[in-house]
Amino acid sequence: MKLRVLGCYGGNVPELGMTSFLVNDSVCLDAGFVSGALSLREQVRVKNVLISHSHLDHTCSLPFLIDNNFSAPGFNLRIFAIREVIASMKNHLFNNTTWPDFTQLPNDLTPVLRLIEITPEQAFNINGLTFKAVSVTHIVPTTGFIVEDKRGTIAFSSDTGPTQRFWEVVNGIKNLKAVITETSFPNELQDLARISGHLTPATLEQELKKLKKDVPVYLYGGKPKHLKTIRKEVKALKRKGLRILEQGQTYKF
Ligand SMILES: [Zn+2]
Repeated sequence: MKLRVLGCYGGNVPELGMTSFLVNDSVCLDAGFVSGALSLREQVRVKNVLISHSHLDHTCSLPFLIDNNFSAPGFNLRIFAIREVIASMKNHLFNNTTWPDFTQLPNDLTPVLRLIEITPEQAFNINGLTFKAVSVTHIVPTTGFIVEDKRGTIAFSSDTGPTQRFWEVVNGIKNLKAVITETSFPNELQDLARISGHLTPATLEQELKKLKKDVPVYLYGGKPKHLKTIRKEVKALKRKGLRILEQGQTYKF
């Protein structure tokens, strides 16, 4: 499996984009930086996006991905997410106020955008990949995603504070190749991490005790202002196989 990191930060400044991973050149996990990272020629090939939750750092490039490619021959986009996330996108994003309702454009019979509701822990297939959403513990309804192809499986927690079910599901995966989870804040901002449903290096260390598989763990979500401290504190955990994702890199699993 090929995972190209389009963006992996919890904020946007020049050179740092927000959470978005392109799997096998065609399916995106979250959309914080799709239009910022891909050329028009690459964007038009993205036809499927899985959205973990409604927060803008995971969704904000969707309006531009659609707008950029609206008139491209054959372009259409399917967005997969749990019911609460679909409802939020209908009510707050594609609502004809924030942005046009592309589920009705150019007409309601052949719209350029389809919002597809998925159910946690029910597997579904796209382009030879199998996906499963798993609920995690954030301040809005959020799921991580388990992604499987013929060669192996990766698990992406999305934004979460300390959580349980995700790790139970991950520990049951036979051919697990890697886990991607978050570390948004440094330890000194533990209170903020707690009330906003995020991890710090200290709470990450506790979370990783729940992981019973010996696989590499990749981190995303660092707030740009605190990246240096987060990197230092993650390094100090001295955990084998623990790395911070790098934007622009393609990882093979
Ligand atoms: Zn979030």
